[in-house]
Amino acid sequence: MTNNINGIHHITAIAGDAQRNFDFYTRVLGLRMVKRTVNFDDPGTYHFYYGNETGTPGTILTFFPWEGAAKGRAGTGMATEIGYSVAKDSLEFWAERFRRLNVRHGEIAERMGESYLPFEDPDGLRIELIASKYPDDRKPWATDEVAAEVATKGFHSVTLTLRDVRPTAAILTDVFDYQLEGQEGDRYRYRTDAIPTASIVDLVAAPNMARGLSGGGTNHHVAFRVANEEVQMAFREKILSKGLHITPKINRDYFFSLYFREPGGVLFELATDNPGFTVDEPLDQLGTHLKLPVQYEPMRASIEQSLPILH
Ligand code: ZN
Repeated sequence: MTNNINGIHHITAIAGDAQRNFDFYTRVLGLRMVKRTVNFDDPGTYHFYYGNETGTPGTILTFFPWEGAAKGRAGTGMATEIGYSVAKDSLEFWAERFRRLNVRHGEIAERMGESYLPFEDPDGLRIELIASKYPDDRKPWATDEVAAEVATKGFHSVTLTLRDVRPTAAILTDVFDYQLEGQEGDRYRYRTDAIPTASIVDLVAAPNMARGLSGGGTNHHVAFRVANEEVQMAFREKILSKGLHITPKINRDYFFSLYFREPGGVLFELATDNPGFTVDEPLDQLGTHLKLPVQYEPMRASIEQSLPILH
């Protein structure tokens, strides 16, 4: 797995109210907040990271909560569904939980040989719990209300909706070494053998659908996982050789990042495993302090004052 794209690293989405986002992901879904920091490009905004105990790549969903953010619209050129892997017999637990807690959700259904339960977060972000047909022995974070047997294990897949799936598929196969694994209707499933989990990208062909509009309740980008910066820079060369623009390496404190827009319009990132979320907080305290990158530390007092208080 050293020289490969190792599936999804994280997915980043836009939210509205910070407290509502925090309550939903930590209490309703039972994820661990593994880092509370600010948007490095806009320190007046939080950046929340949710994941498993350690914030392992492939389990990390992140949000920019913008108070009063205009609602976005799902559409083409966008990641439109986030798939979480759960144990096979856990979907009934979740359907009942969503009913009781008034979470907008659909019915349990079948797709690509797997049962899944679609739901929306409070901003309308579309997520699915999928009883994965692939082995998944990742150890989930457990809470008082969401026991380990039913908890989400991390990502199963991400779905990209595209006017034309072919140019995006070419990046997945020719650059990222994914293979077409199946098709059902307009949905094409691509998967990598480099890693057993968070290894799927579904492409949905929607030639007549309008372009997505970025805003609350939509995904901002999808980050793919690489072992280290050396592998990352090798992929940078491959992407440049396809004639695509890609940023220089950017230090995100918990990983190093490169960004490029794939030909279908979705913002992709390549993110490293190193150094990880314990770089500035011990494991048992992850997510409990507001952590700032070094350039904003002198402004901590004013930043803390401008951010919404989190209970
Ligand atoms: Zn990112």
